[in-house]
Amino acid sequence: MAEDIKDKNTEYMEIVDGQPVDPDDDDGSDYEDVCFVCRRPESTAGEMFKLPNNICVCADCMRKTMDTVSQFDYQGMLNDPNMMDEMTKNLGNGIPNIRFVNLSDLQGTGGIPNKQKIKKKSKKEPEPIDLKAIPAPHEIKKRLDEYVCGQERAKKVISVAVYNHYKRVATGHTDDIEIEKSNMLMIGPTGCGKTYLVKTLARLLNVPLAMADATSLTEAGYIGDDIESILSKLLVAADNDVAKAERGIVFIDEIDKLAKKKDAHNRDINGEAVQQGLLRLLEGADVEVPVGASNKNAMVPMTTINTKNILFICGGAFPDLDEIIRQRLKKQTGIGFSAELKDKYENDEEILSRVTNEDLRKFGFIPEFLGRLPVIYTLKKLDEDMLVKILKEPKNAIIKQYQKLLELDEVKLEFDDSAYRAIAKKAMEKETGARALRAIIEDFMLDIMYEIPKDSSIGTVTITDEYINGTGGPIVKQRID
Ligand code: ADP
Repeated sequence: MAEDIKDKNTEYMEIVDGQPVDPDDDDGSDYEDVCFVCRRPESTAGEMFKLPNNICVCADCMRKTMDTVSQFDYQGMLNDPNMMDEMTKNLGNGIPNIRFVNLSDLQGTGGIPNKQKIKKKSKKEPEPIDLKAIPAPHEIKKRLDEYVCGQERAKKVISVAVYNHYKRVATGHTDDIEIEKSNMLMIGPTGCGKTYLVKTLARLLNVPLAMADATSLTEAGYIGDDIESILSKLLVAADNDVAKAERGIVFIDEIDKLAKKKDAHNRDINGEAVQQGLLRLLEGADVEVPVGASNKNAMVPMTTINTKNILFICGGAFPDLDEIIRQRLKKQTGIGFSAELKDKYENDEEILSRVTNEDLRKFGFIPEFLGRLPVIYTLKKLDEDMLVKILKEPKNAIIKQYQKLLELDEVKLEFDDSAYRAIAKKAMEKETGARALRAIIEDFMLDIMYEIPKDSSIGTVTITDEYINGTGGPIVKQRID
């Protein structure tokens, strides 16, 4: 042990990643040390005492331990003749009643894992966002167009909202005029591209993205994930870097499941209570977040994240919302008057786009919650033509992925126009939007991917509608060498 200390004292600057590191001040790791006792990180608890086995203890906990130990009446113990007898008898077996904690028993792996530690704050201030570096709305939309088909209005709204959001982050508090947060509410049937749109957006903006499911959230203290777990996920996506997480995007899916329960007699722990809990996050507040876990408990280190610059996007299918809108519109047109208009609403495919705050309140959302989601927009249900487009056009369309795979076997994969139609028709029947496409394609491509590599003379495979519908096979052409 003495040797170790001597070695440490005579150590000179260590070089990590080409940078000199002072051994007293920094261990060269990217993560903050966390106190083994109180679980606070070093940015909160101050410098740590480093014990063997990668265990750190903060000064407060060390002092408390010392105080407790010093209150122990050793003197009284030693003056007690019975105790002395007992000690003399047992000396061969070590001192009775006094055990020293073997630190290595505390945790086999040694210390707290990195996933429960936050990244050290860099000595420099986080880089301010350069206004010129934020792509303009038309550029954001152009990039989205490469991946997401249709949904023109949604793409336009999201591009403008994101642009404004990052402008707001970039300008900070310099002005008297505070720009309001542009959190969004996205309404659209399942499989129409809500999640895909947000994922694409986060990728092209190169910001961390956390996806959470509203159905798993409950009020703190109940079984389920605490509301703060959303931010824990964002922290993981940001590689435990708090400054990066504070500029990220959070997508909360299935938000419609948080509607107030109409016939709730008990406490509504995963409906209205979660809406209430989310208010603080959406607005912008300092939130205590468990690091590397979905719930707060005594064993999980905590950190503070400010949500002021986090963009929240909520999405959901909102079943039956169309009926609420229709009822309102019909009431507005009057009784027995303009029956023609009433019929129009009955068959209106785009009824969802007429949604108002009033309808959403009726659906079960509290006004405070809606007030914090100022940008509301709807996505359309995908029709057959759109599904065909999704098969052919996006940069990473699933068919293009298969073509690439077969290209590696030097086989050309082609699709008849009729085949595209047949796939889209089948997908429409399933009523799960574009989500059905993948399942259908994977189903029939399995045989092709299995059979083709068997025969190296095959040059081209053409998929036809007969093959999709199970009434024929694909057209296979030999290689011409
Ligand atoms: P949801 O609206 O239920 O969140 P998703 O975004 O998860 O639906 O869509 C499922 C899949 O369907 C996506 O991964 C994507 O490949 C495809 N998809 C859906 N809509 C579109 C679209 N408009 N353009 C291109 N692909 C789409």
